[in-house]
Amino acid sequence: MIKTALNRVKQQIQFACKRTNRPLTSVVLLAVSKKHSALSIKMAYQAGQYHFGENYLNEALEKQQLLADYDIIWHYIGSIQSNKTRKIAENFAWVHSVGCLKIATRLSNQRPMELPPINICLQINIDREDSKSGFLPDNNELATIAKTITQLPNITLRGLMCIPSPKQNQADAIATFSRMSELLQRLNDDGLNLDTLSMGMSDDLESAIACGATIVRVGTAIFGQRD
Ligand SMILES: *Cc1c(COP(=O)(O)O)cnc(C)c1O
Repeated sequence: MIKTALNRVKQQIQFACKRTNRPLTSVVLLAVSKKHSALSIKMAYQAGQYHFGENYLNEALEKQQLLADYDIIWHYIGSIQSNKTRKIAENFAWVHSVGCLKIATRLSNQRPMELPPINICLQINIDREDSKSGFLPDNNELATIAKTITQLPNITLRGLMCIPSPKQNQADAIATFSRMSELLQRLNDDGLNLDTLSMGMSDDLESAIACGATIVRVGTAIFGQRD
């Protein structure tokens, strides 16, 4: 049952917060509903879940139409081609997967005037993998780009996001998440005002929370396996 699974994940978050002396309210659970039905989202919503993350634009737009009466906060976490930015800017409150300046600029330009600025995170290719997009974790370059992005009018730069390479053990996971948290700290020391670290998924959310994650993105542990 989705409600039971959701409560289990919430307990895990609660446990991780307690262990590291963090207030429970400092971590947002993002339910990743890609490849799961609008009905599954409804069930999670009825169990008190309001933040949902989607990876595939057309699939997300269909579900948003079906769920238009629900007060859902939609997050886009998938890869972004330039020709998708308009629909993303029009239909999401958050975008976690901004991997270059061009995409940030387009999102700002295409954000409808009647909506508040769109919240974005810069995706960091934290393990420097050839297969992954995003910014490399190089302080100076990242600081320059982040400052440029904060000047864009219809965007609020909130923080950083990563999808680490699979790790063999908890120590390695923690080492990677710590590098994310140091990057965020450096940017803030450099005059930025970022409050978000989007990291941690079903398998590693406790390590992520120990390292300062403020949004954990959980799919499988809530909705079950995807097809
Ligand atoms: C699918 C996905 C998740 C959720 O992964 P699970 O292993 O199902 O918890 C989190 N973040 C991103 C970017 C994803 O694409």
